[in-house]
Amino acid sequence: MFELLKTDTTTKARLGRLTTAHGVVETPVFMPVGTQASVKALDPRELREMGTQIILGNTYHLNLRPGLDIIRAAGGLHRFMNWDKPILTDSGGFQVFSLAKIRKVKAHGVEFRSHLDGSALFLGPKESMEIQRVLGSDIAMVFDECPPHDAPAKEQRLAVERTIRWARECREQPRAEGQKVFGIVQGGVNPALREECAKALVAMEFDGYAIGGVSVGEPEPEMMKAVELAEPHLPAHKSRYAMGLGTPAQMVELIARGVDMFDCVLPTRVARNGTAYTKRGTFSIKGGAVKADFGPIEAGCDCFACQHFTRAYIRHLLNVNEILGLRLVSIHNSHLYLRVMNEVRAALAAGTFGEYYREFIAGYTPTQKVLSQRKKHTAD
Ligand SMILES: [Zn+2]
Repeated sequence: MFELLKTDTTTKARLGRLTTAHGVVETPVFMPVGTQASVKALDPRELREMGTQIILGNTYHLNLRPGLDIIRAAGGLHRFMNWDKPILTDSGGFQVFSLAKIRKVKAHGVEFRSHLDGSALFLGPKESMEIQRVLGSDIAMVFDECPPHDAPAKEQRLAVERTIRWARECREQPRAEGQKVFGIVQGGVNPALREECAKALVAMEFDGYAIGGVSVGEPEPEMMKAVELAEPHLPAHKSRYAMGLGTPAQMVELIARGVDMFDCVLPTRVARNGTAYTKRGTFSIKGGAVKADFGPIEAGCDCFACQHFTRAYIRHLLNVNEILGLRLVSIHNSHLYLRVMNEVRAALAAGTFGEYYREFIAGYTPTQKVLSQRKKHTAD
């Protein structure tokens, strides 16, 4: 399923190719997030035009609305949303542990109440895999327990034990035709737990491995550490996926640490606040500074928004709440994430990733929040 084409000589970065039932995915890859069977504000034609190879769908949300009966009647998620390229679905574990109210963790899953209407629901390995089978995703994720990053050691250990047991149950469930299943490594920043979890999952021979328990509110240095602890225990001939990350600079940092796949809501989420990503960091298109700026969002960008519209115009749209404003920023931001991945793959193919990595990180200004997290980490 995964072909390792080349490994960088100066970092752990990898050029690869993932073959799925709906086509080939060149890695490293960014997967735009279509939580509710839609990548917010973007239609499938736009996604295709900007070079999207694979998108993410969400088990927890799609099971609540529109419900499995509708998706089954539509002929699966690909047909329902008119997307004929690969789809990865997450297991719902993250949402159950972060969104749902009143949880009771049982041996075979979690009792919880819907965050929408309070109705009583149950999701475990069996239910999650059944939903993902009906969705018909190309890659299904195992149902795991994702504790908060600051959970006490005892809770982290219990989460790893359940994650391993549930992964084994997931492995035995029926799948959609051609559907692959990835295991998820938990364990926080505890080296022994990460190692134990990774080794147990690798022994079960999943089709790929995700590093979970990242992007759950932890400071950036902890995110890097969690990946560094899990990665050495993962086999080279399978894909590695860091879930729910991150900024362009964090993705490049994690590619250098051996990660192949990413998904993140940031490009479309921050677009709705009028924040644009560039290769040098973020800036606000709402502020007065761009009021009369008739340049594109990012010089040199070949996205539809930058090719046709100015910062001044997009700022105006955002300030009068015209939907086109947030659509244009969403197009640019998503395109930027995909463009960075294109550049990374080209650099890996050319054997110049080490230089690309250094230049990219040197040119990227992180947010104040990330800078203060790094400073505190160094001081500690
Ligand atoms: Zn652009």
